[in-house]
Order: sequence, then structure tokens, then C-alpha cells
Amino acid sequence: MPEPTAGTHVSHCTHWIGAKRRRCHTTDQVRPYFTGLCCPAHTPAAVHATHQAQGAASCPTS
Ligand SMILES: [Zn+2]
Repeated sequence: MPEPTAGTHVSHCTHWIGAKRRRCHTTDQVRPYFTGLCCPAHTPAAVHATHQAQGAASCPTS
């Protein structure tokens, strides 16, 4: 009986990088989150923190 190969179910980060107009697609340390598979740089918490930083940087305070 043939065993399923690892190549048939590759896990990769599905985070969409808007600036690069492509998905991350890294397979390094990818883990499942409620938003999908993410690498350490694109976990929901990491993305949220990034958006907060960008929002603060783009928001005029003066
Ligand atoms: Zn990623």
C-alpha cells in the first residue's frame, strides 16, 4: 500500500503581503492559526502589531 508523501500536503504561510502583491508561502516554522497557516512573522498577533505600527506612523499627530 503506497504511503502518502509529504509533498501532497505542503504547509505554507498563506499571509498576503500587500506590498509585494504575493503570498508569503514560506514553509519555515508554519503553524495553523484561526486565520490560516502562518509563519512566525505573520501570526494574527504579529500582523496586528504591524498594522498598529503602520497606522501610528501614517497618522498625523501634529
Ligand atoms: Zn508568512
